[in-house]
Amino acid sequence: MRYGYHCDDCGTGVAPTTTRTELVWLKHRLHVVREVARHSSGGLDSWMAEGLAFLETHDGHAVTIAALEKHR
Ligand SMILES: [Zn+2]
Repeated sequence: MRYGYHCDDCGTGVAPTTTRTELVWLKHRLHVVREVARHSSGGLDSWMAEGLAFLETHDGHAVTIAALEKHR
């Protein structure tokens, strides 16, 4: 099963290539990862950059972690 973030407010989602555990971790430590991203150039894993971008875009929205159908 593949997991991703889903925004209930916007009806859109993203599915970075990672595990559900990692998605939970990133969501709960967004403020820390944001700082790391600011001070490093290209230091983030691609799934983390993708997830961070989504969480930033939907900051304050009802973002959940949902099981997704496999894309493509
Ligand atoms: Zn949203």
